[in-house]
Amino acid sequence: MADLMDDLTSLAKRRGIAFQSSEIYGGLRSAWDYGPLGTELRRNIRNAWWRDIVQLRDDVVGLEASVIMSPKVWEASGHVGGFSDPLVECRSCHQRFREDHLNDGACPNCGNHTFTEPRHFNLMFQTHMGPVEDDASVAYLRPETAQGMFVDFGLVQTVSRKKLPFGIAQIGKSFRNEITPSNFIFRTREFEQMEMEYFVHPGTDEEWFDTWVQLRLDWFTGLGVRPEKLRLRPHEPDELAHYAKAATDIEYEFPFGWAELEGIANRTDFDLRRHSESSGEDLRYFDQETEERFLPYVVEPAVGVDRALLVFLLDAYRVEEAPTAKGGTEKRTYLRLHKDLAPTKVAVLPLSRNEQLTPTAREVFELVQPRWMCDFDDAGSIGRRYRRQDEVGTPFCVTVDFDTLDDRAVTVRERDSMTQQRVPIAKLVDHLQGAL
Ligand code: ATP
Repeated sequence: MADLMDDLTSLAKRRGIAFQSSEIYGGLRSAWDYGPLGTELRRNIRNAWWRDIVQLRDDVVGLEASVIMSPKVWEASGHVGGFSDPLVECRSCHQRFREDHLNDGACPNCGNHTFTEPRHFNLMFQTHMGPVEDDASVAYLRPETAQGMFVDFGLVQTVSRKKLPFGIAQIGKSFRNEITPSNFIFRTREFEQMEMEYFVHPGTDEEWFDTWVQLRLDWFTGLGVRPEKLRLRPHEPDELAHYAKAATDIEYEFPFGWAELEGIANRTDFDLRRHSESSGEDLRYFDQETEERFLPYVVEPAVGVDRALLVFLLDAYRVEEAPTAKGGTEKRTYLRLHKDLAPTKVAVLPLSRNEQLTPTAREVFELVQPRWMCDFDDAGSIGRRYRRQDEVGTPFCVTVDFDTLDDRAVTVRERDSMTQQRVPIAKLVDHLQGAL
């Protein structure tokens, strides 16, 4: 099982989905770059989330807040004082670890069992704003996108004229100086989050919490993640974040064990209250029906783009024996990605580089290119090109062969079943539209 992580990491690198940042300088630990296909996959994940959370609902609006916010935000939110993990140092090899990540209390580096007392290590990245580096210019890179929604709550509510319950959604980078980044893109110091703060009447928060847990679980299965690989884990009271009344993780069974994929938290009115007190701005909501003014409660689903991407890749990764043209079998590696997520939707493959085929193949390509992310590949044998597309999850390959010149039809091959169907060029777009 653990090999799956290696196989996937190597596929991701080989095909330019994700690879180490700054590799020509030896790489930067825990930082990853996404190549052309990874970039498409990320855009598709973001779009699928945005479509579900914002576009298809009339009670959620979007926000893009800045990464660097006033340091006062982080004081009020409790992050300056309390956003920390327990850090211990191995007394033998002096490597540092997160205490709650140690297995059996043994040092993952040297196996020794004695550590320093844990100390609180604040996870926020600090920097300075402006040309003077002193205490007054300290600023932080946001460790979550959520605070943008709280700080801008009054403004967004006014301009969007939304009534409770309603949500504010944001996708953007967050930064945490994680003590032990690990497992490829699972835990990194720079990552992207998709978060939504759903503001509700106090008293309806528990119901909305359950609703959002279910909706978010459905989002993953709707995008093809195998349900048996997902489970819900409610937090124990002693592990709740400083702002939460309740929290449930959606966990995925990674090759290294069950771990958090997404967190849903009931943040109560903690953040709005703290920002009201600290800024002096009245962030209460005015209910026109009851003429009451109060601080709404907040239910928050929060997931990382990178972590979701890892799950979609791991879950889609398949190696199977497939029949060859010569009557034997061969190993076929393919990504069974949901069509909405697949980086390339259609690959147009002329049977060969023969100059008679090229104009028709280009014509077919130009037909599909405005509608979907497409690839045109005429290098190497057709079997090899199918395998290259399978490996990155392209749902359809369209082959232009010599018969095409006579019958004006192409062969459409489907990724999972490998079935092939002859389709007239005139009907190709309709045919693909029905399946994509
Ligand atoms: P942990 O306890 O594992 O450090 P957390 O419970 O603090 O994580 P949340 O604050 O709930 O994490 O973050 C919400 C989501 O953001 C996570 O479910 C995950 O998908 C993503 N996320 C958080 N930290 C990281 C990270 N360092 N790298 C990648 N994704 C992250």
